[in-house]
Amino acid sequence: MPGKERSVLRRHPWVFAGSVAHLKGRVRTGDTVDVLADDGRPLGRAAFSPHSQIRARMWTFDSEEIIDHAFFKRRVAAAVAARAVLPELRDQQGLRLIHGESDGLPGVIADRYGDTVVLALNSAGAEKWRDALVAALVQATGCARVFERSDSDVRGLEGLQARTGALHGSEPGAIVIEEHGVRLEVDVRGGHKTGFYLDQRENRLLAGRLAAGRSVLNCFCYTGGFSLQALAGGASSVLSIDSSSPALEGARRNLALNPQLDAARAEWRDADVFEALRALRKAGARFDFIILDPPKFAPSAAHADRAARAYKDINLLGFRLLSPGGLLMTYSCSGGIGLDLFQKIVAGAAGDAGVDARILRRLAAAPDHPAAMAFPEGEYLKGLLCQMV
Ligand code: SAH
Repeated sequence: MPGKERSVLRRHPWVFAGSVAHLKGRVRTGDTVDVLADDGRPLGRAAFSPHSQIRARMWTFDSEEIIDHAFFKRRVAAAVAARAVLPELRDQQGLRLIHGESDGLPGVIADRYGDTVVLALNSAGAEKWRDALVAALVQATGCARVFERSDSDVRGLEGLQARTGALHGSEPGAIVIEEHGVRLEVDVRGGHKTGFYLDQRENRLLAGRLAAGRSVLNCFCYTGGFSLQALAGGASSVLSIDSSSPALEGARRNLALNPQLDAARAEWRDADVFEALRALRKAGARFDFIILDPPKFAPSAAHADRAARAYKDINLLGFRLLSPGGLLMTYSCSGGIGLDLFQKIVAGAAGDAGVDARILRRLAAAPDHPAAMAFPEGEYLKGLLCQMV
């Protein structure tokens, strides 16, 4: 359609249904198609997805490039090599190797835990090239196992069924990784996403550094990543809350895997955070350091209003529970809420709580979760470290 080629010319990888004037020939789900501008100029090659509003995802902006096994070998090798450049990523046992669109592989997520790669295929095009991706990952990493976790909700939008299971090597058992000196078990078969939230790796390290001598409240703790770093950093106490009992069981096992930590300082609470924060407030509790890392309240901009109220609510309660001089580390991983809006919500929460607070740091995902310049959607995780005056 006239003018609709602009975003692709700027290397944005999504072609929306409303931008497609016509389709030539018989094309099936996941097939590679040539994408043409309104005047017939070739723009590149994409994977066709008839069921999704994102009708095609660009594999390449070079209209001559062939999409075959060799293409995936090149892209996967480049993604793996890019991580090796950054010293902070070099020795990580848990590492994101492929971050979808931002690594030139729309819909493909690959996380490495020890010698197991967990692969999530979230688009029709990615689905089509499963075998090529597995072969390329095995070659680029030398890993013994590739396990598929293509069971995220977004598969439904692409008209794909959930699929999990071993793709290369044996079924993985319990995998233990070490992150900043803390041992963590990763349940790649049943855990959230690929088993763990690798994007918060650096922020967990920062939390550990800030925790010394502080009473810590870790909300939405999952398997205790932030909690264990806080204990390792010398927190005086860590209260962790999550509403998933399997996550909390994982957290308890993780604590047991780290006998160097003082387990007597840790308390785990199976509760809804919204209710638990209100109950803590009623009980007159105070904390020196509060971490809020909720799930995605707004998967897209359409959910932004309701999500904004939820963020405001927990941040308001968080500020009210802080002791003077306390720290609030607060996150949003909602694609539908940008950093500006998130900062406004948190500022509004501080205002309503009647506290003076300032921002010490703006936080983001670790660099194995890059955001391509042309793909701002890749910058989904944003956080603020705030200090109450
Ligand atoms: N901070 C964690 C990741 C958090 S993921 C880490 O570093 O690993 C979000 C967590 O919020 C999940 O474990 C989920 O079970 C939990 N959750 C979702 N809604 C909740 C609610 N209303 N109350 C408590 N926990 C909730």
